[in-house]
Amino acid sequence: MNVFRYFMPVNAYFGKDCISQKKEAMCVLGKKAMIVTGRSSARKNGALQDMTDALDALSIAWVLFDEVGENPDLETVVRAAQMAKTEAVEFVIGIGGGSPMDATKAIAVLAANPEADSNILFQDPKAKALPVVEVPTTAGTGSEVTQYAILTLHEKRTKQGIVQPLFASVSFLDPKYMEHLSSAITNNTAVDAMSHLVESYLSANANAISEKIVDMGLSYWKDCIPALRARQYDAQVREKLMLASALGGVAIAQTSTSIPHALGYFLTYEKGIAHGRANGMVMQAYLDLFGKENERVQHVLSCLGLASTEELGALLRDILDCPETFTEDDIQYYAKRAMENPPKLATFPLYALDEEKIQNVYRNSLL
Ligand code: NAP
Ligand code: FE
Repeated sequence: MNVFRYFMPVNAYFGKDCISQKKEAMCVLGKKAMIVTGRSSARKNGALQDMTDALDALSIAWVLFDEVGENPDLETVVRAAQMAKTEAVEFVIGIGGGSPMDATKAIAVLAANPEADSNILFQDPKAKALPVVEVPTTAGTGSEVTQYAILTLHEKRTKQGIVQPLFASVSFLDPKYMEHLSSAITNNTAVDAMSHLVESYLSANANAISEKIVDMGLSYWKDCIPALRARQYDAQVREKLMLASALGGVAIAQTSTSIPHALGYFLTYEKGIAHGRANGMVMQAYLDLFGKENERVQHVLSCLGLASTEELGALLRDILDCPETFTEDDIQYYAKRAMENPPKLATFPLYALDEEKIQNVYRNSLL
């Protein structure tokens, strides 16, 4: 067995009302916090109220930045960091889907380096950061247990991760916040979680521990398939989706993501396709790159109770709504752009992926 590393330093609490029950975990982080959310969901689902109640009970002062949009861009993060600096906050709390959670990590870096400009996010892996708390309200990204934060860079017409590996100090995972999450967002984000699990297992970076974590995550995800198809989710399904998502996060924290993520970013930037759905759209063609008889692909399919990549493709078409149309020009452009990310392409374990193979993945998925 080759030497491998397993690292998961997040103090993660899981379960109903975990913020109010375990709020003391935030005491050591500072005396003033900035809460970062999207525009409305954190208010509606009760997570913001639970957090402000907890902070008030702990006598921790707080300010709110509630302007993070989907696929947060650098400009938003810079604006929030300015507020964090002016308000002299000592830690940052992200509440929401992956967008506010990722934005929070980038804000934590910028606020801890007031003299630096925003390039620091892409240049200095050792830059310090304020402590981060994360509260996921979707079950997809696993950002509450990963060291990654992905930002939209308009200048480059794509999304890119910040270079600081930044794990939350504390995460609170309470499935109750998803009670009223729409079926479209539930299914799109569930596919992101599944995609993390599958990409991690099939990555060149997979190891003995990450593989077992994926098995666990896929078994929870499999149990949710009927609910995802019916677009009806009870409390138990919400819990399993959140567990699958967190396990997917733990897995990609070890291995990083792989080809579907590298390809999906352009679908999101150019067509506004939600992140998880973008991964799902290229999943079957990605698995087919491994060849029909590949044992590792067979393992993943059997964990999901599926017999073939065609069955997985049919399942994804059933649970995702994909109305977009694409042209051959789109395919050529996306493939050209995907080739700009060699480290991600190198996570494919079997052979070097050239532009023609990437074009074929897009073509088989989108035309
Ligand atoms: P999102 O962009 O965070 O949120 C999507 C939508 O869901 C927003 O409109 C949001 O509303 C709404 N929403 C969130 N929670 C809700 C709830 N409980 N009830 C009702 N509505 C709710 O979507 P996401 O898929 O979770 O995150 C995607 C982002 O995560 C992408 O930028 C992606 O690149 C990133 N990502 C990060 C990692 C990582 O490891 N860090 C991994 C995968 C993906 P509001 O705006 O009002 O809150
Ligand atoms: Fe993802």
